[in-house]
Amino acid sequence: MKTTASMSGGASVSALHGVGPSMQERLANIGVRTLHDLVYYFPRDYEDLSQVLDMIDCTEGAKVTVRGTVTHIASRRAWKKRGMSITEAVIADATADMHVVWFNQPYIAESVRVDDQLFFSGVVKRTSKGLTLTSPVYEKAIAGCETTHTARIVPKYPLTRGITQKQLRYYIKQALQRLLPMVDALPERVIQTFHLLPLSTALHDIHFPETLDAFRAAKQRLEFDQLFLIQLHAQQSRAQLATVSARALKFHEDEIKSFVAGLPFALTQAQRRSAWAILKDMQAPHPMNRLLSGDVGSGKTVVAAIAILHCVLNNAQAVLMAPTEILAAQHARTLRELFASRHIPVELWTSSTKPTSGGAVINAPIVVGTHALIQRDVQFHELGLTVVDEQHRFGVEQRKTITQHAGSDGAMPHLLSMTATPIPRTMALAIYGDLDLSVMDEMPKNRKQIITRVVGPQKRAAAYEFIRTHVRAGEQCFVICPLVEQSDLLGATSVAQEYERLTQKIFPDLRVGMLHGKMKSTEKEIIMRQMSDRTLDILVSTSVIEVGVDIPHATIMMIEGAERFGLAQLHQFRGRVGRSDVQSYCFLFSSSGTAQSLGRLRLLETLRSGFALAEKDLQLRGAGEVYGTAQSGVSPYAVLSLQQPQLIEHAQRAAKIVLDEQLLEQSDALQKKLHAFSLDVHLE
Ligand code: ADP
Ligand code: MG
Repeated sequence: MKTTASMSGGASVSALHGVGPSMQERLANIGVRTLHDLVYYFPRDYEDLSQVLDMIDCTEGAKVTVRGTVTHIASRRAWKKRGMSITEAVIADATADMHVVWFNQPYIAESVRVDDQLFFSGVVKRTSKGLTLTSPVYEKAIAGCETTHTARIVPKYPLTRGITQKQLRYYIKQALQRLLPMVDALPERVIQTFHLLPLSTALHDIHFPETLDAFRAAKQRLEFDQLFLIQLHAQQSRAQLATVSARALKFHEDEIKSFVAGLPFALTQAQRRSAWAILKDMQAPHPMNRLLSGDVGSGKTVVAAIAILHCVLNNAQAVLMAPTEILAAQHARTLRELFASRHIPVELWTSSTKPTSGGAVINAPIVVGTHALIQRDVQFHELGLTVVDEQHRFGVEQRKTITQHAGSDGAMPHLLSMTATPIPRTMALAIYGDLDLSVMDEMPKNRKQIITRVVGPQKRAAAYEFIRTHVRAGEQCFVICPLVEQSDLLGATSVAQEYERLTQKIFPDLRVGMLHGKMKSTEKEIIMRQMSDRTLDILVSTSVIEVGVDIPHATIMMIEGAERFGLAQLHQFRGRVGRSDVQSYCFLFSSSGTAQSLGRLRLLETLRSGFALAEKDLQLRGAGEVYGTAQSGVSPYAVLSLQQPQLIEHAQRAAKIVLDEQLLEQSDALQKKLHAFSLDVHLE
């Protein structure tokens, strides 16, 4: 016999009535192993069946719920279709009666008897017998008992094969009965201040709300829990960071100024402001933790270079991490050029480049590398600064490792992260509550706006002529091909075909190169070098060049199958051109070309900033779609912050209250939750 005494959340679902070994396995497929997992398995939707109609008011075609007494029920074999059974019933309430029919569920005639009182939910049809409910959901009406499947707001869960809605509801209901009331990890003080529901009520009502308001309050409380943990974790990390020591790097004003004066351009105000904030952070004896956010082409690299120089002038080492080998090689080249007159060596470390300094201790003042750098067991002589470019491309675990290269004296390096992901400020706070934020909202002045056009197939030949003319004038061009076959994960096939076509048929007179993810990194490096030396005119590539590549003489970006890419990604591609004062162009070709996808692509013709595009994308597709993907590096809970900015503000205040008033120390439950959360963050 199974007991109904209250159980711990860690108990296996096999303790529930109706869950045998095979169901246990199926539940495991949706990540549900314990009772706790079950009550935290939230509905994806609800159906409001709470209104119970009199039968006389039921009309054909409507989905209705009625309460009726069974006056007749019987099951028989259908003679027309062999093997099929039909169960028919007549039900009545005080106002009228109705027919009910079910197919292939003969057991219903066993479990439902004449005189039983039941709820029925289904669509009303007119048959020869009159108004009929076909295969309705039914459930016994028991006085004083809340219903589960009918006559209420009914939860709908994401399912997997072999589990029905009815089964899940039944299991979850049992789990709730056994687990509630549960210990609420949220301090009473916070619940009171922000008028939140108690946890147990919220967990019940997220599954089985009486009203829509009850559902909203439950959802709010549970979302608050997530945002609150993010904030608590962030604020705690921030407080801890303030207790960690870092090298306070002295400001060498003259040399920094002469470096800036020696640049081939004047810094934008946004670059100045950001560089200033960074240098200021690094003068403190605690680690900087700053995010530099700026659209593609806003000039983040040179700001990083200033920080790196500042570090090197203090005889400390600096590391610049890039997400791809192409980008790492490019950064190494850029820094070498920028620091050439100062004779500061820059070393490149990727999985394919052998470091010049033998052994595991790095002595070079500046090292540029990919994550291969952190994966190897390297040690720095005296690491003062870590810069992470396109930081969302790194896994959380990698980011963690990057930041943990403490020096021999225990001092942590300063950390500067950079991103071109256009995240609204509230969201940045939600995700990066432990970071300081610098936003570069200004483009270098010399830029002309990139002319963007969605190009129809009839203009393809003209577009190729256009490219030829510009290449003859010394400009360069990218052609991006999407991944065509699933089997060809790195897009090599489509790129190879396009390369073939362009070299043989379209541009036999021009120098065309090819780049894709299956190539060796030395090959990639050679191709990119040829692009930057201008010994190639046209580069056909997969999306590997998406991030950060800087080829100033490239002025035309041509994208095939553009409808396959998201707006933000297309904007990133476009950011590969328009990096000088020469007019640049972006041509979008679409192979499927539905009106909707063309309309979406046309947005790129008028919207110039990644931020504006992200906003539009948000309207079109919703925050979940835009930021909900793994690549965006944004957690689903952070997406909430956009939908409910007030909730994030409350969560921030709540976390502050909890830390200020030492409520965390007083609550084992909260400490446990926070610990579990931080493990989650690390394993993400
Ligand atoms: P991102 O922010 O996308 O990383 P980069 O740092 O690669 O941008 O800079 C894009 C290009 O703009 C580079 O060629 C860089 O030399 C140039 N650049 C940076 N700052 C300025 C500026 N203030 N004025 C003109 N050009 C600049
Ligand atoms: Mg960049």
